[in-house]
Amino acid sequence: MTQYLRDIYDAVVTALKGMGITGKHLARKPVTLQYPDERWVLPERFKGFIYNDTHRCDACLRCAKVCPVDCIYIETVGKGKDRFMHRYAVDYNKCIWCGLCTIECPTNACQHSHDYDHAVYRRDRLVYEFVDPKHPVPCHKERRLEMGYYVPNAEAERAKLAARKEAARKKAEQEKPEAGGKDDAPAGGAPDGETKGE
Ligand code: SF4
Ligand code: SF4
Repeated sequence: MTQYLRDIYDAVVTALKGMGITGKHLARKPVTLQYPDERWVLPERFKGFIYNDTHRCDACLRCAKVCPVDCIYIETVGKGKDRFMHRYAVDYNKCIWCGLCTIECPTNACQHSHDYDHAVYRRDRLVYEFVDPKHPVPCHKERRLEMGYYVPNAEAERAKLAARKEAARKKAEQEKPEAGGKDDAPAGGAPDGETKGE
């Protein structure tokens, strides 16, 4: 009987202690958020999913080469000024968030984002495509300048490009009279009749 009463006493005391702790927390500010409607503000250098800003990317392949698990897929078509990137994808099934691609990227196109909750039901949904093949990204510096894509030191590069074009124009002008003279000779021969006819 004594044991029975002690058990009841212990149960009541334990319940009251628990209620006391709960009561203390009722007055405190909550530390939880209504996720996913509310989210924590993440630290600036938080390493979330890799993101590619294709406006800055010129398909130099450095990130893909340095990636230890080969989870960056870059595909281009064409050569020289007509080289365009039509695929930049990251396979997050394989990514280990090492950040080497972001360190290696010379244009800061490849960065860690603040995204961390890409839950999916199918693994193929974790291969993220960044380029719309209908709008491929130019790779050549001149083409990028022409099309308004990011180029490091764009102003200096634009000035160099303008200088090159001007030099080419002048050269063409200088060659024109010579070419014209040469052309005139045969032209003066063959279409002689026409000239005379006029
Ligand atoms: S973070 Fe590492 S593993 Fe992930 S894509 Fe970049 S280099 Fe590859
Ligand atoms: S993301 Fe950076 S390193 Fe990777 S291909 Fe683009 S420019 Fe080169």
